[in-house]
Amino acid sequence: MKNKKRINYSKKLRYEKERRKQKTLAEERISGLFNLADEMIEKDKNLAKRYVQLARKISMKYKSRIPSEYKRKFCKKCGSYLKQGKNVTVRLHNSKLIYHCQECGAISRFAYKSKRKKAEEKEETTETDQEEKPII
Ligand SMILES: [Zn+2]
Repeated sequence: MKNKKRINYSKKLRYEKERRKQKTLAEERISGLFNLADEMIEKDKNLAKRYVQLARKISMKYKSRIPSEYKRKFCKKCGSYLKQGKNVTVRLHNSKLIYHCQECGAISRFAYKSKRKKAEEKEETTETDQEEKPII
C-alpha cells in the first residue's frame, strides 16, 4: 500500500513538472510571436495577424496567459496586431484607455492607472494582508 501511494505521488509531481515546463515554453513562444508580429506589421499586416492568431492558440492550448504587456497589442474582435500610429488610436477618457481598432472598428477599454498609484495600492493590500493573518 505504501509503495503504491509513493508511486502515485511521484507521478503527479512529474506531471506537474511537465506542465510547468510546457507553460513556460508556451509563454516564451507567445512573447516570441508577438515580437515577430511587431516587426512584421510594417511589411505584412496579414502575417502579423497570423502571428497573433498562433499566439492566442498556444495560450488556449496550454492554458497559459498572454502577458499583460501583449494583451493590449491585438484586437479581440478581428485579431489584428495593433500598433500605435499604424492601425489603432488610443484615447484617454474617464481614466480609461480606449483603443479603437482601425481594421474592424472595434473599441476596447482598459482601466488606466499610473504606476505610482498601483504601487501605493499594492502596499495597502500587503499591509491589510498582514493584519488579517492569524498569529501563530
Ligand atoms: Zn479589430
